[in-house]
Amino acid sequence: MSVEVIAVGGYQEIGKNMTAVKVGADVVIFDMGLDINKLKLRVNQDISRLHSLDLIEDGIIPDDTLMRDVDGKVKAIVCTHGHLDHIGAISKLAHRYDAPIIATQYTLKLIEQIINEEKKFKVNNSLQLLNPGEKYQISPYLVLEFIRSTHSIPQSVIATLHTPEGIVIYANDFKFDNHQKISSPPDYNRFLELGRKGVLTLITGSINIDNKSQVKNYSEIVAKMILDDILKNSLRDEIGLIVATFASNIERIQSIVDIARDSGRKIFLLGKNMDKYCSLAVDMDLLDLPKKSKIYGNPNDVDKALAKVEYKRDNYLIITDGHQGEHTSLLPRIANGKTPFNIQKHDVVVLSAPVIPTQNNIANRNLMERRLLGCGARIYPNAHVSGHACREDYRDFIQMLNPAHIIPTQGNLRMLSAFAELAEEEGYKMGKDVHVLRNGQAQVFDGGV
Ligand SMILES: [Zn+2]
Repeated sequence: MSVEVIAVGGYQEIGKNMTAVKVGADVVIFDMGLDINKLKLRVNQDISRLHSLDLIEDGIIPDDTLMRDVDGKVKAIVCTHGHLDHIGAISKLAHRYDAPIIATQYTLKLIEQIINEEKKFKVNNSLQLLNPGEKYQISPYLVLEFIRSTHSIPQSVIATLHTPEGIVIYANDFKFDNHQKISSPPDYNRFLELGRKGVLTLITGSINIDNKSQVKNYSEIVAKMILDDILKNSLRDEIGLIVATFASNIERIQSIVDIARDSGRKIFLLGKNMDKYCSLAVDMDLLDLPKKSKIYGNPNDVDKALAKVEYKRDNYLIITDGHQGEHTSLLPRIANGKTPFNIQKHDVVVLSAPVIPTQNNIANRNLMERRLLGCGARIYPNAHVSGHACREDYRDFIQMLNPAHIIPTQGNLRMLSAFAELAEEEGYKMGKDVHVLRNGQAQVFDGGV
C-alpha cells in the first residue's frame, strides 16, 4: 500500500492551506483555507455569493480541481484550528466531498458559522467533534488522532494519521508555548512516543523559519508582560485607551482583560470580528470577562458604545481589531474621524499585532498610524509575540518525532527551501527524504518506515 501526499494549496504562499493524504484508496484532506491577503483585495465584494471556480482563478482558495484525477475516495476533511487560512474555504469546497468535517469544538463552531453565512453552495457535510488526545476511526485501516498543541487560537491541534505504512503528522501552525492560561502545553510526551513508534512523514508549516533575528519563539506570557508594562500607567491616566489585536487570539484578549480587570475601566470589545470570536469563546467558557464588560458587533451598537466613551473616555478600555489599517475596520475608522469617538492628545493606542508584510497592509497601517499621531495619540506598535514556531523550535520538533521524511508547507519557495536546509542540518537530504512541493505536486511513499 502506498502513501501519497498531495500538495493542493499553501505550498507557494502563506495561506489557502489544503493537503490531501491518500492511503490505498482512501483520502484524507487536511485543512481548506483562504488566502486572506488576496481576499482583502476583494474589499467590497460579498464572497458568500461567489462561485468557487472564480475564487480558485483569483488564487483566493486552493485549486482542488486536481482532486478529480485522484484515484480514491475522500473519507474525511480534518481541520486543525479555526483560522480562516485553514477553514475559510470549507463553505466553497467541502460540499464536493461526501465526507465528515472533523475538528475540535471551537473550530467546529467557527466552521458552522462559515457554512451558515454561505449563500452560493449548500454545505451538508456532517460535523464531527474530536477532542485533543482522542482518536477517530476514519476507515478500516486509517485512524486519526488529535494531539494537544498551542497556537494563537484556542483548541488548536496537531493531526496524526495512523496508517498501515506508518504515521503521517500534519502540523501546520503551532508554537511550543508552556505558559498559556487557556491552552495547556503541547503534548511533548506523545510526540516522543510517536517518534519511537515510527513517523513516515512530517508535514509541517514553515512560518518564521527564515527569521534570523529570532530562532526560538516566546510564550504568550511575554506578550502579557509587555502589555502590562505599557498599560499599567495608561489605565490610571485620564485618557482614552485602545488596544488592537487579532480577534481570534483569545489568549491575548484574556491577558489584556486580566491586566485591566481591577482598573475600574469598563471593557468594550468592539467590531464584527470581536463579536464573532469572543462571544463564542465566552459561551464556551474559554474567555472570562468581568461582569460589566460588553461585546458589540453591530455597527449601530458599536457607535452607541463609542459615544459613551467619547463622553467619559477614562472610564473605558476599548479592545478591537483593525491593526492592519483596513479601511472598513473600526480602528482606522476612528483614526479617520468617522465614529462618535475622537482621538485626543495623549490618548494611547496599543497595536498588539505585527504588520503582516504585504504592500497593502504596510501602506494602510502607515496611513492609520500617521492619522492617529496627527490627532495627538501615543502609539505602541508591535506589542506582540508570534503564534508560530521558530527555527530552533522546528529543530526540536524534528528531533522529537524523528520522521523518515519531511514535507514543509505553508510558505513560498524561499521559506520551504529554508526548511529543507534546516532538515539537511539534521541529516536529511533534499529530494531523498526532505521534499519541497509546489501546489499541484505530489510525493509518493512506497512501503513503510
Ligand atoms: Zn493559524
